[in-house]
Amino acid sequence: MNILDGRKISNQIKEEIAVEVAQMKERGEKVPHLAAVLVGNDGASLTYVGSKVRSCKKIGFESTLIHLPEETTEVDLLRQVEDLNANPDIDGYIVQLPLPKHIDEEKVLMAVHPDKDVDGFHPTNFGKMALGMETFIPATPFGIMELLRRYDIETEGKHTVVIGRSNIVGRPISVLMSQKGKAANATVTVTHSRTKDLTEFTQKADIIVSALGSPDFLKADMVKEGVVIIDVGITRVPDETREKGYYLTGDVDFDQVAPKASYITPVPGGVGPMTIAMLLKNTLLARERHS
Ligand code: NAD
Repeated sequence: MNILDGRKISNQIKEEIAVEVAQMKERGEKVPHLAAVLVGNDGASLTYVGSKVRSCKKIGFESTLIHLPEETTEVDLLRQVEDLNANPDIDGYIVQLPLPKHIDEEKVLMAVHPDKDVDGFHPTNFGKMALGMETFIPATPFGIMELLRRYDIETEGKHTVVIGRSNIVGRPISVLMSQKGKAANATVTVTHSRTKDLTEFTQKADIIVSALGSPDFLKADMVKEGVVIIDVGITRVPDETREKGYYLTGDVDFDQVAPKASYITPVPGGVGPMTIAMLLKNTLLARERHS
């Protein structure tokens, strides 16, 4: 069993980006500027956004955090989005999800200008991705692809089972892995909550990408020997013995499944750090495309 070390690879990617940023500075060019909009005080969202902003600082990007109160109206948020679209200093920005229930997420994501949509959630960018055109690929599936590429995992002709069909993970990774190219050319099956007898699919899978958000869901008897496991799930499990009052766990019962796997991502330290690295990569691409 080999660990797919997302923390190590994400640090490599961040170092590569930092070198490019230093060269931009030397040439007197504007450095990439990422903004993040956060509405409310959801604990996980605060952690994610904080980590994104810290990463920007480390690699030499400019960053702006726009933290709005929970009671922000949809109209006010849309105005904020328009300001960011019009601000020439901002290369790319994200609106951290989930948004409070009184705000229509789809409406907000549709309002983000596709050229600044470094999350790759706008239909224009999603459509381009599906057509294999140059675009912003959503950071989590982009991170998974990069992890597979850098570890030289054979995917061509391999049966890949994706668990989950969300717009931010399951659906885009299934599209990407079925396309032509490196870390792709796979035969992909997308499974979801209405799939009958999931185990029948997972037991035959050469590669499993699990993105459902259910702790320790994937057990050893559900996978075959030598399987490659990409565990996207991150769940906070309450635990009062821990300083933070919780611990993070993935969708995969790591202790059971790891001995059967050829490669496996840990949680934390697998897909999570890759997501942040690829958001930074998209912001660098946005800067390059705007210049
Ligand atoms: P989601 O809730 O939008 O989607 C979950 C999917 O799982 C749905 O498509 C549903 O059909 C499917 N599902 C539910 N029960 C199932 C079952 N019993 N069998 C098969 N499929 C089932 O989730 P999401 O936004 O894609 O996130 C999934 C997980 O990934 C969460 O834990 C989330 O925190 C995590 N996540 C991690 C990162 C990262 O950077 N590592 C990024 C995004 C999401």
